[in-house]
Amino acid sequence: MSRKDVYRSDEWNRIDPLERADILLVSEGVKPGATFGVKYRTNTEKVLEKLKLPYLPPRWHKSRYSYHIAMSDKTLESYLGKLMDKNLTLQQAHRAHGQFYGYPDCCIDAYVTPQIITNRNYRPRKNVFFSHVLKEYEKTNGSYPEALDYRIGVPCSVECPEALKQSECYRDVLLEHDKEAAEELKLFNKNGSRIIKAKYL
Ligand SMILES: [Zn+2]
Repeated sequence: MSRKDVYRSDEWNRIDPLERADILLVSEGVKPGATFGVKYRTNTEKVLEKLKLPYLPPRWHKSRYSYHIAMSDKTLESYLGKLMDKNLTLQQAHRAHGQFYGYPDCCIDAYVTPQIITNRNYRPRKNVFFSHVLKEYEKTNGSYPEALDYRIGVPCSVECPEALKQSECYRDVLLEHDKEAAEELKLFNKNGSRIIKAKYL
């Protein structure tokens, strides 16, 4: 069964479109790894096996099975290796997650900057959504790059060329293989579900 056939199968369609977006981007080799939660385990594992995507045994978390999947065994092993380090700091852990998800280095750097990493003594004044940042940008500039509606992760800025290039790639791959997943990712992003920290205020 080809990957394209998997994307047209009943099993595929039984997975929520937002999770399909993550699986598809890893399967098509444009994203090294992903983490997502699903309600039904058997169906998801059938899909992952047909796509030959390695995954860690899922953990039951917030009424869903939480999966880590990767484009190759090597990617998964390297990610796990980094997380096993006993002296891992919070910043290094965030960096390892960011690299696993394939976020651009500049966006990871912005995310792990001490000013936005919480520690015992630090409380961000207020969290905002990246969609709010986009709305503000739109008010000032008339529009924002529409490809950012297909982002995964929080870009370091609305004008980050790396995040824009990546979002365009995600958009094109999703629209080619699963329009419903593309639309769902766009809605998810527009509804403001990505929290970013006070540095944008
Ligand atoms: Zn960036």
